[in-house]
Amino acid sequence: KLPQVVIIGRPNVGKSTLFNRLVGKRLALVDDQPGVTRDRRMGEAGLLGLEFEAVDTAGWEDEDAQSLPGRMLAQTQVSLTGADAALFVYDARTGLTPLDEEIARWLREQEVPVVLIANKAEGNAGESGIIEGWSLGMGEPVPVSAEHGEGIADLYTALSPLI
Ligand code: GDP
Ligand code: MG
Repeated sequence: KLPQVVIIGRPNVGKSTLFNRLVGKRLALVDDQPGVTRDRRMGEAGLLGLEFEAVDTAGWEDEDAQSLPGRMLAQTQVSLTGADAALFVYDARTGLTPLDEEIARWLREQEVPVVLIANKAEGNAGESGIIEGWSLGMGEPVPVSAEHGEGIADLYTALSPLI
């Protein structure tokens, strides 16, 4: 059984782009069962030879997610159950938002190891946003560009000891 890695973050930070980058053509199983799995996509991911099952989540996309109602928390919690690690993605260009900070607070209380990912950092973009990420208390932000495929080796270095 492959280790499971869940991709978490507020809307529009690039979670699905990262999922597609990691899973690529290997997208074998799309889980479209109704109910708790309706907001999740799973696929076999490859990262420089590191293999795992990636889970793309959309639970925070709900318009009510700003106040983190129980249903959203429950859904993301479900996605973390059985997960070996989480990739917590934020937007390095936008910098941190209150929702990023709220998700981080929640995530720190969970037992799953987290890799903090500063996405949209292609080229020299998002430098101040990358620095801001340190304030989340989740260690060193890993700058990547999911869209352009940059930072993949650093992501490998951060994730491989955890799974
Ligand atoms: P999600 O809502 O977190 O799943 O985010 P998406 O993957 O749907 O991406 C949201 C938007 O950000 C889309 O317009 C993407 O093209 C864009 N995006 C994703 N990754 C990157 C990136 O690495 N760099 C830039 N500049 N844009 C990105
Ligand atoms: Mg998405």
